[in-house]
Amino acid sequence: MSDASPERVPLRADLADVTPYGAPQLDVPVRLNTNETADPPPPGYLAEVGHRIQDLELNRYPDRPHTALREALGAPFGLGSDQVWAANGSNEVLLQLLQAYGGPDRRLVTFRPPYSMYPELARTTLTPVTEVDLDADFSLTVDVAADAVATHDPDVVFVASPNNPVGTLVGHDAIRALHDRSRALIVVDEAYVEFAPDGASAIGLLEELPRLVVSRTFSKAYRLAGLRLGYLLARSWVVDDVQTVRLPYHLDAIKQVAALVALEQTPAFLEHRERTAAERDRVHATLAARADVEVWPSAANFLLFRTDVRDLFDRLLERGVLVRDFSRQPRLTGCLRATVGTPAENDAFLTALTEILDDVADPTAIPSTSPTTAPTGATR
Ligand code: PMP
Repeated sequence: MSDASPERVPLRADLADVTPYGAPQLDVPVRLNTNETADPPPPGYLAEVGHRIQDLELNRYPDRPHTALREALGAPFGLGSDQVWAANGSNEVLLQLLQAYGGPDRRLVTFRPPYSMYPELARTTLTPVTEVDLDADFSLTVDVAADAVATHDPDVVFVASPNNPVGTLVGHDAIRALHDRSRALIVVDEAYVEFAPDGASAIGLLEELPRLVVSRTFSKAYRLAGLRLGYLLARSWVVDDVQTVRLPYHLDAIKQVAALVALEQTPAFLEHRERTAAERDRVHATLAARADVEVWPSAANFLLFRTDVRDLFDRLLERGVLVRDFSRQPRLTGCLRATVGTPAENDAFLTALTEILDDVADPTAIPSTSPTTAPTGATR
């Protein structure tokens, strides 16, 4: 083969060393690594979706502006369809925002530790990104917020509330500071806000702060991670702008129906919230009671905790418990994150963790030599 006819095309240079992002999907008994709700959708939901999709004309493209769905998404907040936009998961919402407002001559500011997709989305859209350190306890104070935007003059700010991987909420005063001290689009990522106390959401600030965007998802409290649906709420100019970057017909017709049915059944979908929060608080209390575990308060459906056990991720996995490993990431040395699962799953996690920690603490114990079953690569 001559040089003029090579067998493959080189990948974009800035992607050459990139490992595809994604948490492992392992077939183990207790999967607590991706923050889904453990309970399936309410009984009857899939049957109703199955019934309603009979009427679809699948030979035709779906409703491109998905107006009925946008109306249904905005209604609980008193917002019209002109202030709502949906996409395939809130990751795609965030991607579209960076496609519209990011790019090589723009700047994104996020806070460290960030949700792991923020740097990925910045890279994909060629948007320079600055990660500003959260406070020592991982909170976003008004001072940190004001200083971040004053120093870096961003075009876009992504801030998750509750934050992932820590679980802490961002106060409205900090959101106001980000907005009022900058000219940026302030995107508050509320993927987990349904697990937080009432009043935590920034949606009430939309009228006051014209450059505020709130993004949400059906993947977490809404128990529909398999549906891939997220949405944003914002001023109508944001909704107009993202339409310049969306693919035509990006939301398929079956998804639009499935989401409408879910919205009709909202109370049934969200009835687990108090139960999940109670389980979170129970797991938190058990972890906090141990002197060899540091655990952060969480308003979400997961807990970040730190121990001194270097191979804890692998040892939990050997016992059939998959959590998320942050232990090698900046500022998160020794940290793992566990999703709140069913009571039985949480018990299995706590039992496995207790066994490992007690074993490590026992000076007569033989160190674990079993081979690792852990996935390799950047994301675990
Ligand atoms: N934001 C945060 C903070 C998340 O943790 C996640 C999912 N892990 C998302 C956004 C994206 O969720 P999805 O694309 O499933 O809506």
